[in-house]
Amino acid sequence: MEKFEVKAYGTPAATADLQPLTIERRVLTDTDIEIEILYCGVCHSDLHTARNDWGGTAYPAVPGHEIVGKITKLGAAVSKFKVGDLAAVGCMVDSCRECSSCKQDLEQYCISGFTGTYNGRDKHSGGRTFGGYSEKVVVNEHFVLKVPENLNLAAVAPLLCAGITTWSPLRHWKVGKGSRVAVTGLGGLGHMAIKLAKALGAEVTLFSRSPDKEKDALALGADKVIISTNDAQMMSVKGKFDLIIDTVPTMHDINPYIPTLNLNGTLVLVGYLGPLDPYLNTVPLILSRKSVAGSLIGGIAETQEMLDFCGEHNIVSEIEVIKMEEINEAYERMLKSDVRYRFVIDMATI
Ligand code: NAP
Ligand code: ZN
Ligand code: ZN
Repeated sequence: MEKFEVKAYGTPAATADLQPLTIERRVLTDTDIEIEILYCGVCHSDLHTARNDWGGTAYPAVPGHEIVGKITKLGAAVSKFKVGDLAAVGCMVDSCRECSSCKQDLEQYCISGFTGTYNGRDKHSGGRTFGGYSEKVVVNEHFVLKVPENLNLAAVAPLLCAGITTWSPLRHWKVGKGSRVAVTGLGGLGHMAIKLAKALGAEVTLFSRSPDKEKDALALGADKVIISTNDAQMMSVKGKFDLIIDTVPTMHDINPYIPTLNLNGTLVLVGYLGPLDPYLNTVPLILSRKSVAGSLIGGIAETQEMLDFCGEHNIVSEIEVIKMEEINEAYERMLKSDVRYRFVIDMATI
């Protein structure tokens, strides 16, 4: 299959800094769209992948799955978009489109596995997929989203992962007026969870380890902040929440949060991928029918629903725009929870 070269920024090894690279993209098929990338958000998953935290990273790796830009070329059969339109791409660029998950618009749970925007296997070219820290991307039209025109484009980028990853559980667990929602961790995902839950009509509490984030949390729409290391504060919200969205990216003890759930309440893990330590105590789960669940990004239709909702409600991410060459420093700051609240790369600086 024919390919063309584009500039990118990525890493040749788990222990190397990100650096300039040249990568190849496939020449458009009939159903493909070429997007000139204008901004790309920096997700904690980019860092996990670059550093092989989850295993399985193929190098060189080019992260980035919060992509917004302008359409520069269309395959002959593309009908939903035109050249010059704004467009966005999130965490997926392909799936089988035929299995029971795909048929329910849940491509993220495709039974044969979705193709990740980076570190996936490109079904057309056979090579690896490369993410949005790059000049251009080529994506099947089904996986391209429409961007509301009224929003700040750079601040839309994080909606494509941080936004949808928190929107999907809010919708699945039917959060609305009268719901009581808590969010654990105020970073990229956490700050979007607060904004979206609030806009859906919920009463929102933040669990954080960082007292200095309280003022920001309230400004973002939280009604209350609980410092998770303070036992008295934790006791004060016993039995309160219908849903807790836990965005913490590392191993942590979730047992202290379970008593803060209401009867039938659910703690949904979206941040940490791996075994829990210490073990989860089932007693409080059984005694008041509580659940611990997980959730992965969101489907394409649901992502469009979230973008349209953000357009209507004027919701975007709080961002710090960086130059491409500042990415290694941004990763270090992310590891220190020093992100207010999402880095976005200005791709003109690549
Ligand atoms: P982030 O911006 O780095 O935010 C994570 C926040 O968690 C931090 O700001 C901090 O908030 C809190 N935190 C960090 N370390 C902690 C610790 N050891 N104990 C307790 N709290 C801690 O990261 P993000 O981009 O939001 O991503 C969060 C996680 O979600 C990552 O692991 C990422 O890979 C994952 N993710 C999952 C999905 C999915 O589909 N399920 C999608 C995207 C990302 P405080 O200072 O408030 O405590
Ligand atoms: Zn992400
Ligand atoms: Zn499928």
